[in-house]
Amino acid sequence: MAKPVCFSVKAYATPAATVPLAATTIERRQPTPTDVQIQILYCGVCHSDLHFARNEWGFTAYPAVPGHEIVGRVTAVGSGVKKFKVGDTVGVGCLVDSCRTCPSCAAGLEQYCDLGLAGGTYGGWDKHLNAPTLGGYSQSIVVTEDFVLRIPANLDLAAAAPLLCAGITTYSPLRHWKVGAGQKVGVVGLGGLGHMAVKFARAFGAHVVLFTTSPGKVADAKRVGAHDVVVSTDDKQMAAHAGSFDFIVDAVSAQHDLNVYLNQLKRDGNLTLVGAPEKPLPVASFPLLLRRRSLSGSLIGGIAETQEMLDFCGQHGITADIEMIRMDEINEAYERMLKSDVKYRFVIDMTSLQ
Ligand code: NAP
Ligand code: ZN
Ligand code: ZN
Repeated sequence: MAKPVCFSVKAYATPAATVPLAATTIERRQPTPTDVQIQILYCGVCHSDLHFARNEWGFTAYPAVPGHEIVGRVTAVGSGVKKFKVGDTVGVGCLVDSCRTCPSCAAGLEQYCDLGLAGGTYGGWDKHLNAPTLGGYSQSIVVTEDFVLRIPANLDLAAAAPLLCAGITTYSPLRHWKVGAGQKVGVVGLGGLGHMAVKFARAFGAHVVLFTTSPGKVADAKRVGAHDVVVSTDDKQMAAHAGSFDFIVDAVSAQHDLNVYLNQLKRDGNLTLVGAPEKPLPVASFPLLLRRRSLSGSLIGGIAETQEMLDFCGQHGITADIEMIRMDEINEAYERMLKSDVKYRFVIDMTSLQ
């Protein structure tokens, strides 16, 4: 395929795992007939951005431009675009493409495409430019219309940005495991994902318990919807809930002991990991064998489910609790994220990059 005509946009990138992010210029393709060009207004800061920028998962191509919680305005559309017009408020999450033919794509589960992570908004492969995809820490992005989402008109745009990853990543497993009324559901870690998991589990009617390592977050956890909060470093508090959960979603970004959470589950209970720490997490056999418990993972969500989640948020007035930052505060924000000091999602005001 011939390289399409491109235009330059400002972005924030890093050239190596140990180097802070800094201003640079990147190329975007001119919209093809099926593309939507989006001026980025806000971009959430996911812990995955940090894992990726620092190559903690081992597959980062440099220069790296993170960012996959994108909200913006359509500034141009290709001649064949049917769903969007100039001026629409739209979102782009963790996916900008997929093979569209494998069984997962056919089932609307593009996140599990046979091509693996090739469709990623960053760290994927841009088949138009024949180069790694570059994310949302940038002025604009060009995306095929099939991977562009609509943002409900009643939602605050900045606070809606984190829905594009933190939102769908927690909504999807809660729906898959049919969380609802009559169930006791745990959420591990009150960060970007964790606080969205609490909001959704509560909205779905479950009894929600938040596990945290930060005693200072107890009041906030209740404010965002937890019925109860357990400080996980307190053995007595942990023992009081042992064997009582139907389902637990673990949204922790760093090393921690999964076995203590398996032991919190009832018979046939499930612990789903959404957190993606750098190193493997050891699992003992007995916490699984006893009570036939299971351990699973879950990756973001497909495009149809992401739209469903956004519409659900519009109907129920759900957004993230955010702290707005300027683009040039990103390195400091990463350091605060590593200290679990975010309330509860940083969002970059992308006009600060103009
Ligand atoms: P985050 O905002 O930094 O939150 C992580 C939370 O984990 C912290 O707020 C903290 O909560 C807890 N935590 C941190 N260090 C800990 C430790 N050493 N031991 C126990 N708890 C600890 O991160 P995020 O953006 O929500 O992302 C969370 C994880 O999910 C990351 O690994 C990210 O890459 C991954 N992720 C996965 C998917 C997916 O598709 N599966 C999508 C997006 C992100 P407390 O202070 O309450 O303890
Ligand atoms: Zn993310
Ligand atoms: Zn596929």
